[in-house]
Order: sequence, then C-alpha cells, then structure tokens
Amino acid sequence: MSQHPLPHDLHLETLAVRLAADRSQYGENSEALYLTSGYVQPSAEASARRFAGDEDGYTYGRSGNPTVSSFEMRLAALEGSEACLATSSGMSAVMLMLFSLLKAGDHVVYSQSMFGSTLKLIGSEFARFGVESTVVPQTDLAAWKAAIRPNTKILFAETPTNPLTEVCDIAALADMAHNAGALLAVDNCFATPVLQRPMGMGADIVMHSGTKYLDGQGRVMAGALCASEKLIKEKLLPVMKNSGMVLSPFNAWVVLKGLETLDIRMRAQSARAHELAQWLEQHPAVSRVYYPGLASHPQHALSMKQMSGMGGAVLSFDVKAADPQQARTRAFHVLDSLRVLSLCTNLGDTKTLLTHPASTSHGKLSEDQRQAAGIGQGMIRLAAGLEHLDDMKVDLLRGLDTL
Ligand SMILES: *Cc1c(COP(=O)(O)O)cnc(C)c1O
Repeated sequence: MSQHPLPHDLHLETLAVRLAADRSQYGENSEALYLTSGYVQPSAEASARRFAGDEDGYTYGRSGNPTVSSFEMRLAALEGSEACLATSSGMSAVMLMLFSLLKAGDHVVYSQSMFGSTLKLIGSEFARFGVESTVVPQTDLAAWKAAIRPNTKILFAETPTNPLTEVCDIAALADMAHNAGALLAVDNCFATPVLQRPMGMGADIVMHSGTKYLDGQGRVMAGALCASEKLIKEKLLPVMKNSGMVLSPFNAWVVLKGLETLDIRMRAQSARAHELAQWLEQHPAVSRVYYPGLASHPQHALSMKQMSGMGGAVLSFDVKAADPQQARTRAFHVLDSLRVLSLCTNLGDTKTLLTHPASTSHGKLSEDQRQAAGIGQGMIRLAAGLEHLDDMKVDLLRGLDTL
C-alpha cells in the first residue's frame, strides 16, 4: 500500500472529502465499508497489548471499526476538535455524555428550548438517579449565571433552537461554565460546523445528531460527540465500551459520505431558507417569521457573528388568525395543500420538510405551556431542502393564498 499522509495545512472543504482511515491494500478511492464485528489478531502478544490499551488496533466492533473511525476523524476535523466519538443516534450521544460525566448529586444547567428528548432525558430520566438540573430561558445570560451552583458540572446549550430559532451566546456561556469549573456542551445540529464551530468559541463538547444535516439525505440515524482527546479517552470511551451505543459501520459509511457534501448543502439550503424567510415576511397571510438571518430576529447580530453570516436552513412562521382554533385550521390547510414539499417531522434533508410543532414535537404541552413557550397553533416549521425556490414558493402559496 503506497499512501502519502495528507499535508497538515489543508482547508476544511478538502478534509471533508479526503480525511479518512488508511486505504486497504486494494487502493479503493471511495472509503471502504468494513462490515465486521470481530478482527483477526496478528499474534497473541499483539492481542494482549491491544486489550491492555498499549497498542492501537481493532479488536471487537463495540470498541471500534475503521469505517466508524473515518467518520470520527472527518467530523473532528470539521468541528476543529482533537477527537470525536460516534454514537448510534443523536440521543445516544447525549446519553453517553451525561452518563460518562455525571454522578448522583451533580447539577446540569440547560435551556428550556432544547430538543424535547433532551429535556426529558435530563429532567426526568437522570433525575431518577439523583442528577439535579435547572432549566433556563435560552437567551437570558443572567438566568444561566444565576442557575449555577457549586455542584454544577455541565452547561448544555443548543443554538439555534427548534422551532423558534432562538440563539444563545456560545462564547459567553463557555466563559461562564469555565469560571464555575464546569464544562460547556453545545448541540450543533442546526448550524453544523459549516456555519458554527463551538470548539473555537470555547465549548468543551460538541454534540451532533448525524441523522440531520451530517447525513443530510434522510437515510440513517447517527450521532457524535466531539471533544479533547483527553476527555474522550479518559471519560467517554471507557463508558462507551461498556454500554455499546456504537454507530453501525453501515450508518457510519453513509454519514461519512454525507460529510463530503455538507459544505455545499448547508450553504445552498441556508440560502433558500433565507430567501423564503424574507418572502414569507411579506405575505399578507403570515404574521411572523422566525429566522436568525432576518433583521427582525431578536438575536440577529449575534447570529450573524456566531453563524458565519448565515441563518441556517430552518425557519418557522405563524399564519394570521383570530384565535388558536382558527390558527390550527389555517396551518393544517397550508400543510395539507402541499403537493411537492413533505409533511414530515424531521429536518436536515435535501427534501424540504414542514411540520406543525403544536401538534407534534410540542403536542404534549398544555395550551398555556405552549403559549408561554411561544409556540402557537398557527406555527409551521420549514426545514429547507434543495428544490428550486420557485417550486417551493408555488407549493406554499397553494395553501397560503387560499386561507
Ligand atoms: C434530532 C435532534 C436530536 C436527536 O437526534 P436523534 O439522531 O434523532 O437521536 C438532538 N438534538 C437536536 C437539535 C435534534 O434536532
């Protein structure tokens, strides 16, 4: 195998298509998919060294796989972290992080606007094991600070959030965490490293649902944690080996190939979302648009600074209505009038996906809780894909123009 190591000064776009584990003896150009659960050991001595951790080398699928390693190397490069650990889904990444870093009596501070399963995992499941937590308003730095206690171990932020696209200040939260001797973890699903690289702003851990933009084509579940080599080797990997939330090699291969087009997809989808947001803001049937790229967004300036001047590919909007019942009927009309775009509770796909948060992701809240959270019956979330902008507009107008 004649293979030159990659030069050290490559750009992200280059690493996104080139960085991977070594080629096999066959010289395949597209990275190999290693579907194997075990590995034949070169000798009993080598096997013993590998199990003792004194030598690199694969032993068993729960401890590592070359295709999974390729994905981890590539994502670490994109996020600017020393290392990365892939997991079977985004939620298993959250689970692994909390399970590895917390014990009974520890405390977590996190935003009330985080992904629904994250809220439940911390607030309900971990609470059963004595982990304390405080939820705070996403954008209120003073509230984050006031929530910190001597036993606070992790500040966990997600930005922008779903579906209101609220943005919090990563650098400020990193300072706050470090002054308290805690770690800052950031869920970077919505922005991806193309728009936002939290490690460079002081975050200690970046969490991903690879199911979203990293795959980007709605095919597989995947997740990952990016962090320092020390944190991964000493804290996360040992728990992973014993708990088995590993990413399957097939899914790793799909997400690995997804990373190759992440940069151009994110830019193109973000541009479409921006155009749609501006266009929807002008439509007489729309009362409000939530999108960080709009000047009307409450954290517009921070967003542009933190997200490379882009707003991301997700926006939400409210249809005008006299009361919640009419709002729901009108939002449903817009969604049921679609002929091209998908009514689908996912995001991060090349196909544009729309959802009605009040009856899906936030359906279990009472009407009062939903009002407090600012998620009304007339709200529609749109995750822009790669269709032609004109076709997207025509599909949305089918419902919006007949309200
Ligand atoms: C989807 C999502 C998750 C969970 O990821 P899964 O891959 O579905 O487990 C976590 N955070 C955010 C922001 C998400 O959108």
